[in-house]
Parts: sequence; C-alpha cells; structure tokens
Amino acid sequence: MKSGKIIIRGIVQGVGFRPFVYAQATKFGITGTVINHGSEVEIDASGEKFNEFYHEVSKGPKMSVIDSVSIEPLKDWTTPTTFSILPSRDGARTGFVPADIATCKNCLNDIMDPTSRYFGYWATSCTDCGPRYSIIKAVPYDRERTSMDKFPTCPDCLADYKNADNRRHHAQTIACKTCGPKLSLLKGTGEVVSGRDPIDAAAKLLDAGKIIAIKGIGGFHICCIEDSAERLKTLLGRPNQSLAVMMKPETLPDFVVEPTKGEWELLKGPVHPIMIQDKIDPESHKNLSQLHNLGVMLPYTGLHHLLFTKLRSPLLIMTSANAPGTPMITETKTIIEKMGRVVDYILTHDREIVNRCDDSVVRDGYLIRLSRGFAPLRTKMDLGNKQILGVGPELNANASVYKGGFLITSPHIGNIRNPPTVAYLEETIEKLTSLTGAVPEIIAHDLHPQFLSTRVAQELAERYGAVLCPVQHHRAHIASVTTEEVVGIAIDGVGYGDDATIWGGEILAGSPSEGYKRTGHLEPVLMPGGDLATKFPERMLYGILPTEDTLSLLQSRGWNDTALRVLAQQTEKRFNTPVTTSTGRVLDAAAALLGICKERTYDGEPSMMLEAYAARGVAQPMEITIESRDGRDVLLTSSILREGMEMLNSGICVEDIAASIQNTLTKGIAQIALAGIHSSGIKTAALSGGVAINRSIRETIIETLKESGVSCITNPRYPFGDGGVSCGQVITAGILAKEGLI
Ligand SMILES: [Zn+2]
Ligand SMILES: [Zn+2]
Repeated sequence: MKSGKIIIRGIVQGVGFRPFVYAQATKFGITGTVINHGSEVEIDASGEKFNEFYHEVSKGPKMSVIDSVSIEPLKDWTTPTTFSILPSRDGARTGFVPADIATCKNCLNDIMDPTSRYFGYWATSCTDCGPRYSIIKAVPYDRERTSMDKFPTCPDCLADYKNADNRRHHAQTIACKTCGPKLSLLKGTGEVVSGRDPIDAAAKLLDAGKIIAIKGIGGFHICCIEDSAERLKTLLGRPNQSLAVMMKPETLPDFVVEPTKGEWELLKGPVHPIMIQDKIDPESHKNLSQLHNLGVMLPYTGLHHLLFTKLRSPLLIMTSANAPGTPMITETKTIIEKMGRVVDYILTHDREIVNRCDDSVVRDGYLIRLSRGFAPLRTKMDLGNKQILGVGPELNANASVYKGGFLITSPHIGNIRNPPTVAYLEETIEKLTSLTGAVPEIIAHDLHPQFLSTRVAQELAERYGAVLCPVQHHRAHIASVTTEEVVGIAIDGVGYGDDATIWGGEILAGSPSEGYKRTGHLEPVLMPGGDLATKFPERMLYGILPTEDTLSLLQSRGWNDTALRVLAQQTEKRFNTPVTTSTGRVLDAAAALLGICKERTYDGEPSMMLEAYAARGVAQPMEITIESRDGRDVLLTSSILREGMEMLNSGICVEDIAASIQNTLTKGIAQIALAGIHSSGIKTAALSGGVAINRSIRETIIETLKESGVSCITNPRYPFGDGGVSCGQVITAGILAKEGLI
C-alpha cells in the first residue's frame, strides 16, 4: 500500500479538477478524498497504484493551469474504503478563477442531439466549458457562490452532477431546460413577447432586419444582419466605426482571408475571440468596415449556436451594447432604459452577469483587447513579497494585481473619463482584490496628476495605507514587455511625459530597476486646441506644418477664413497648444493631409484609415531627417509630412503617399532606436504601444532592426495598447520595491 497527500496549486477551480481526480482515483483503485481550497486542490490518497495515480493527476484536466505539485506523507491517516469529493474550503487564492470558456464540442453535440436531455437548451455547459469569471461572486468556485445559485438543480441534473461517470460530474454550472436559466424575448420598451420559442422568434426578426439586444456571457450585444448595418450605425451614432460580426466557421472564408492553422485553433478554442482578418476584397462590405479588414468571431455560447441554426442570414453584426465611453450594459432594465429606442427587441435571460466582460480582440496573433476568455489573465512572475495594485492609465484601461508570485490582470474596462467607467474601475479593483485576497501595499498609477485613475489610486492608497508609485506611461508599456535591460520603442497615442508634455514616440533605454533613459523621440509638435486636435486631425496637420501651404489646403477642404485665422493665431501665440511627440498624432495628421479623415468619430480612426490606404499603396523613398537635441535623437516628422504634401501636389496617388509616409516614419523610428542601441550599449530592443498593432509598422521596425543585427521583442500575452499599461505599472513598482527603492 502506498499513500500520500498531494497538493496541486494553480488554476484548479472551475476547470473540473475534482471530478478529474475522482475519475483517476476510480481508474487506479485509489481511496481517499479530494478538496478544493480555492487555488489549490488537496488529495489524500492511498492504493497500490498510487504512483500511477500521482503521475496522472499531476497533469490536471484540460483547462487547468498547474503551477506546482507537491507531495507529503499523510499523518494520522485511516485509509477510507472509498474515494470522495469533500465540500470546498477557502484557502490560498493565488490561482484565481478561470476565464469564461466557449461552449465545448461535446456540449454542442448535446444541444444539437434530439435524444439528449440538453437538446435545444441554450445554457448547456460542463466541466470543460461555460461561464466562469462572469458569474463568480466569491471563491472557492462552487455553485452557491455564483449567479447560478438562483437555479437549484432538478433531480436529473443532480444525478448527472453526482455521477462520476458523467461529463458533468461536479460541473458547477450544470443546468437544463427544467431547472436552468430561461430566455425571454421583449420589445425594446420592455413588454414581453409571449407564445413563441424566443430563439426561433429572434432569428426570424433578425432575418427581417430588426435590431435586437442579446444578453451574452459578459454583457449585452446589439445584433442585426448586414442589411441593417446602416440603420444600426445611425441609431448608435457611430457612422464610420467597424462592426464585429459573428458567423459559422464554414462561412468565414467567404468574407475574410483564411485564418492560419493557429488562428483557427484560437477562433475555435476556449477563448473564441474577435479576430481582425483582412477582407478578401478590401473594397467589399464597406457597411461593416471601411477598413481593409473585418473583426470576425464564431458562435461561442449555446444561444449563439442555436440562433445560427435558425438564421438564414450568413452573419450577425455583434457590437457591444454601451453608450460611447461607458461600460457595456449587463442588465435588462438598463438596456430598456438606455437602448430601448435603439433596439427593436431584447433577447435576454435571468442569469445575472456578476462581472462584466467584453469580447477579446486579436490581430496577427497579438492581443488588442484582453477580455472574455483570456481575462482574468494570470502570469507567474517574481516581483517580491509586497502586494501591489496597478490602476492603469486613462484610455483603454484595465487593472492588475500582484500577490505571492502572480500577476493578475482584469478584463478590459474602458476609458476612465466619466463616472460610470470610474465606478467600473473601482468595482473591478474590488473584485480582483477580494478574489485574490490581496491587500495592496503599493499602488501604481499613471504619472498624470489629473487622470481620474490617479485619483482612484490616491483614494485607495489612503484606504489601504498603501504607498503610491507613479509610473510614466511609456515606461510602463516597455516594462509590460520585459523586465530585462532593453532599448524600448514605445509608439503610442498619448501619455504624460517627464517634462509634462505629451509623449508617444519614445526611445527608452534601460530597465524597470535602473530606470529608462529617453535617448530619442519624435519631433515635438503642437496640438492646436489640445483635445480638439485629436478629434479634428486637420488641426494636427497645421500643428506639425504651420505654413501658408497648409492653410490653403485646409481652405480647399472647406475651412472658412475666420476658422483659418483663429487656427493660425492660436498656433502662433501658443494658446492652448500642448506639445506632443505622439506617433499616433503624426499618423492622424497624415490622414488629414491626404483627405482620408477629416473628423475622428471613434478611437484610432484616422490612423486606421491611413493604414488601410497604405496597405493598397507602394511606398516610395523619402528623406529621413534626424537631429540631435539636448543629446537626444529627434526624428523630424514635419519633414516627412512636408514631403508628403509635395507628393500630393505633384499628383501622386493617395495610397502611395500613405504608404510612403507610414514607411518613412517607421524607418525613422527604427533609426532612432538603433541610435539608442549604439549609445547605450544595450543589445536588445522591445516594442510596445498602440501603434504597434499596425502590421506594416510593427513588421518594418522588427525587420529593420534585424537587418542591423538587433533583435526586437514583443509580448503577445499583453496588449500593445494601453491594456498593457496596468501590468507594466505593477511590474515597475514590484521591481523598485524588491530593490528597496520604494
Ligand atoms: Zn461543455
Ligand atoms: Zn436540470
């Protein structure tokens, strides 16, 4: 007889760990117990085949993440005659909870099988799939601590739950038509539409062109078919923004370039993200996306799958239901209140969404939005003994917490610029700290004194008695890539710099512990009207090229004399004209120069439109001018735009100029990065910042550095954009604390 206490740590909750252990115990004739302590599973076991059992359970079930397995002798142990699953107890919380998991193949088969008791049931799930983070209130993960607590299991579900041979043995989300959450179809105004199967009715209404709000895993989507796209965009007040679409896998190659094998795996895997793929014909489906690409995803819940069996339309537009700049709506009453006039109908259910979670977005294998399926994202790293919170920046923010060797990042939160989003940030921080049991000792935040997130950090620091640690935006970006010594290339929209100007095209040499020295940057230029220059990129163009030629160009684009005079005077007198080195703003100005974008109606519109034009053009060689100023290498962006204007005047096509400007800017950035490599003696470069999402820019930088023998690293686990900043803040604070610097 052999025996022992096996302790397995990691993501062991919500992944079917205990039933997995039970099945192995049965297989090897092991007796004993298994208990879930939150982030660890403890197995007391004995039997002849103990070693084989130990070997198998150490691997864990499919969705688990195992950090460590240890074994110790059992004390005062009386060998039981059976193997049993004990009720959970709270314990170490380092493993945190798993992210929501898309409906698995087996459950899909059940839903489609007329002989299964799960046939046609929209909320079918098992130990391998179903909602997790979005329904969890507290750990350990058991039904009574999730929003499934409202739905006591029926005798059949209870039998499946207790049956060790069943796939749903100990599946906390088990439910069926009899006992589980139920769907209902409402009018936009909230009255119940009775009498019909809600999914069947919704499919018919969608095919007829109606707009329906559908409650999903982590929030509501606004849905319609392609023919209703224009009406939807008008109603939402987002005339130009791309809309994500959902379709079956067999339809996808009709719309976008066939994903690679790895991309298919991601699309069909546990996460089911939105994937930005190039359109087959860049000019097609302009009503869905004016860009050369389209965000596509596959059905990821039972509800989606059932809807697509009834729908005649090949695709559904699925856009998050939220007012601009505010969090996605999760409650039916809020949808009626805020979107009742936009949507014709509401397909909802009675399972509460405890934690909001938007769809994740991926492009070229890189994360653009870290959310459903990926988040909470947990990374093992050693940042010392202190517990640390990072509240993120202002735009596209999320929050991160570090405790006991693990960094955990929340789903996407949004732009922390208004009270509802600030409240959502606070709620998320509360959730992260309570689920991990973290009590922040250090709170890292953006250097910008006015950000609302900075104020949240200050309030929390007071509450926890924690130390504040301001981290400069672009240094946080680079720290999110690596803690090693690198020459960081942070190409970005905007972030507050050391000198109180707006940075965003920075070469930063160093590491979190020694600090990063700014060895180069883009030319400091003016933003006439501050935020107005972001909204109206033609202002930005004048900020970079304040010349008579620019004024005449703007005049030809409809600016009247008064507006031109005000712009010129404002710029000359430096009235409300912040200084910026942002890469994003240069791309914006180029889009304005070429007449591609006059007004930004959504985040990143001018630069994304420029990228779409550049993708169709051929880059021509342009001059790269680099000056040394105060010992730093400064890439003159005004010279690039001036040459672009000359090309425009000489009648070269807009696509080629777009490609030329983008390419020259990129090569120039690579050159100032190489200069940083030479002056600092550091061997490796690291790329981050939202502009790195642009494929051509990213690949050209990496390629150009490679040609000079320099390798440039990125971090595919965290977004290039500001969704990577909160973890960079925590990493920086952790390393400074380890060195005794805070
Ligand atoms: Zn399943
Ligand atoms: Zn049931």
